[in-house]
Amino acid sequence: MQQTLLDIDLRTLNLKNPPIFNKDEHYKYVNDWRGHYKGQAAAVLKPINTQEVSSILRYAHKNNVAVVPQGGNTSLCGAATPDESGKSIIISLEKMNNVRQFNKAAQTITVESGLVLSQIHNIVENENLFFPLSLGAQGSCMIGGNLSTNAGGINVLKYGNTRELCLGLEVVLPDGKVMDLLSELKKDNTGYDLKNIFIGAEGTLGVITAATLKLFQLPKMISTLFVEANKISNAIELLNVFKSYFPDRIESFELMPKVFWQVARNNIEKIRMPLENTPQMGVLIDISSYSKDDIFPNEKGEIRTIKTIENVLEECFEKNIISDATICKNENQSKSLWSIREAAAESEKKELEKSNLIKCLKHDISLPVESIDDFHKDAQNMISKFLPELKTIFFGHLGDGNLHYNIFGNGSLPDGFKGKSVNLTNNLYEIVHKYNGSFSAEHGIGQLKKNNLKFHKNDVAYSLMKIIKSQLDPKGIMNPGKVLF
Ligand SMILES: Cc1cc2nc3c(=O)[nH]c(=O)nc-3n(C[C@H](O)[C@H](O)[C@H](O)COP(=O)(O)OP(=O)(O)OC[C@H]3O[C@@H](n4cnc5c(N)ncnc54)[C@H](O)[C@@H]3O)c2cc1C
Repeated sequence: MQQTLLDIDLRTLNLKNPPIFNKDEHYKYVNDWRGHYKGQAAAVLKPINTQEVSSILRYAHKNNVAVVPQGGNTSLCGAATPDESGKSIIISLEKMNNVRQFNKAAQTITVESGLVLSQIHNIVENENLFFPLSLGAQGSCMIGGNLSTNAGGINVLKYGNTRELCLGLEVVLPDGKVMDLLSELKKDNTGYDLKNIFIGAEGTLGVITAATLKLFQLPKMISTLFVEANKISNAIELLNVFKSYFPDRIESFELMPKVFWQVARNNIEKIRMPLENTPQMGVLIDISSYSKDDIFPNEKGEIRTIKTIENVLEECFEKNIISDATICKNENQSKSLWSIREAAAESEKKELEKSNLIKCLKHDISLPVESIDDFHKDAQNMISKFLPELKTIFFGHLGDGNLHYNIFGNGSLPDGFKGKSVNLTNNLYEIVHKYNGSFSAEHGIGQLKKNNLKFHKNDVAYSLMKIIKSQLDPKGIMNPGKVLF
């Protein structure tokens, strides 16, 4: 095979891992997790340290080569997939996975951006500490990808998004300069907050190479309970009751309605249902406890429940907010329930592959919690008028007002649907907008929602984003085709 100039130049960078030019080895880097986006790359590079990232970007900047930074490639909106030109290079951060510093006393850890999220959990939990970012892709996604998408997940209600969990950042700018903003400080008012420009930028402004993260005390215990609330308005009332009793101890509050369970049952082997009947509007809740006095074991010393939970549930039964409930007796039960929730995206993907459902319009929206019931009614009304055959599968982080609101069609959809499906999404976002929500809660913009960003973002803010992009990356080499036009 003839070598191109790019091949030859990249070899002269003398990276420890030679660039991968062979297209057969590119598969996992150029296709996205959902199988929706397929690109091509000139090469995949796997730098081992910040200096190597810097020399790659210096080279790319000088030679106008497009660069796609990539972590675990679990983006749900095509953010890490290169375009089809085959001219981009992918910088995979997977070989940059060292812990640079673990300060147990200060409860911080500084890690390189290619460290897989679940590995961070393991490292800190061994020391009785806790990094709260948790999501279904945690066994594959990397902290650089989490920061670049400002990922959310199941613990945002108490701890915030990835942005709130980051104290400092090291970034390589598009021209190869290294900006070291790594810091353990909780307070640092020294001008503009540059760190936050790179968090959520989806690789369009530079490559994050390391981050200092906030850690927390591992709770003494987490009680997991599953509740049947029958309808959305009850689930919201339940949230308010729990907030009043456990103001800063609700770790997660997840909505798992009947449609969620139908898909889960079809696609998870040997699934154990938490309640006798399939829940209409199930809610999965984690409550943490930091004091031994708070916890009581059963006669076998096995059930470990926070004392007040049973009383609170009693109150909710009396007020008819809930009709059934179960408290997990041990960690295994809790893990098994959470594994069903965490497999949501995977189950949906399998459902799509094996059933005659043919189209899935994924929406990751957020709303003021108190508007969710009205939003859902309006949305269902609009969808059924649009095409009665459509089916909505929704679930999500109710405590944060964040729903995954996915619309499926079946094999008998009229031919013209493909062209009109964009209108359906736009109609849905109009309703989100009416209730002061956001069309993009936690997955980011990527390629999928570029149009919507241009349409819904405040004009002045959108222009400012473009100015920042053009100043930092005047040649437009960083992750082209993503986020902005
Ligand atoms: C099963 C499943 C469940 C999920 N659940 C959630 C959820 O609950 N909440 C949620 O928020 N998301 C969720 N996601 C989406 C996704 O996992 C997250 O957005 C995750 O944070 C992406 O991390 P990653 O390492 O895979 O990044 P990638 O997919 O590799 O990249 C994502 C974006 O970040 C950029 N990027 C990656 N690394 C860097 C870097 N070091 N420097 C600069 N830019 C970089 C890429 O260019 C791309 O734009 C889920 C995905 C799956 C598949």
